[in-house]
Amino acid sequence: IVTLIVLALLNRVIKRYQGQIQTQATLDSLTELTNRRGFDLLAAQAMQEAQREPRPLTALLLDLDHFKALNDTYGHLAGDQVLIGFARDLESCLRHSDIVCRWGGEEFIVLLKDTDGDGGQVIAEKIRQHVERQPYAYNGNRLQLTVSIGLTTLLPDDTLHTLLSRADHAMYRAKQSGRNRICVELPHPAYEKA
Ligand code: GH3
Ligand code: MG
Ligand code: MG
Repeated sequence: IVTLIVLALLNRVIKRYQGQIQTQATLDSLTELTNRRGFDLLAAQAMQEAQREPRPLTALLLDLDHFKALNDTYGHLAGDQVLIGFARDLESCLRHSDIVCRWGGEEFIVLLKDTDGDGGQVIAEKIRQHVERQPYAYNGNRLQLTVSIGLTTLLPDDTLHTLLSRADHAMYRAKQSGRNRICVELPHPAYEKA
């Protein structure tokens, strides 16, 4: 009986440990947002649901402006603090059901469930303004930050790749046209008619 109890306890400890490892594997250690691995799983599920129903879904690709200059001026640790602060501010503008991911470096992706392009633009603008007005503090310095955002909406036959490519195009245009703004890449007209 003692052996069985010990085995049962051991089993519980191992299960819990496995769970922790699995959670950590899908989280970005700096910002504690979902990482790319976690995002792939969540995004596939959200896209499948939206396409099946069908329901609208909006994707945002966010890239912090002139982040290299911020690192160069105030140091990498300041940059890290800003990334953490930005992650929290981003979450504060969203619903719990939305998917937020640190895609890598100073790039983030958001999937807004049940949200069409117009609704998505309202939220993107809320994020942009929030970040612009928010001072990020580090070692007594007040760091100013802005973000460029590319927006697109889900098509019936989108893959994650095609969806994110459009968001990336839009983000690129936001950078080219002066940063601290939102650009929209609308789905191809042929699809809109369908
Ligand atoms: P742009 O407005 O065109 O986006 O300019 P940028 O400087 O933001 O873009 P660039 O791609 O040239 O530089 C991104 C910088 O982000 C460079 C890199 O050092 C910094 N970065 C990426 N990941 C991290 C991180 O985890 N911590 C810190 N502190 N910096 C990071
Ligand atoms: Mg970048
Ligand atoms: Mg950048």
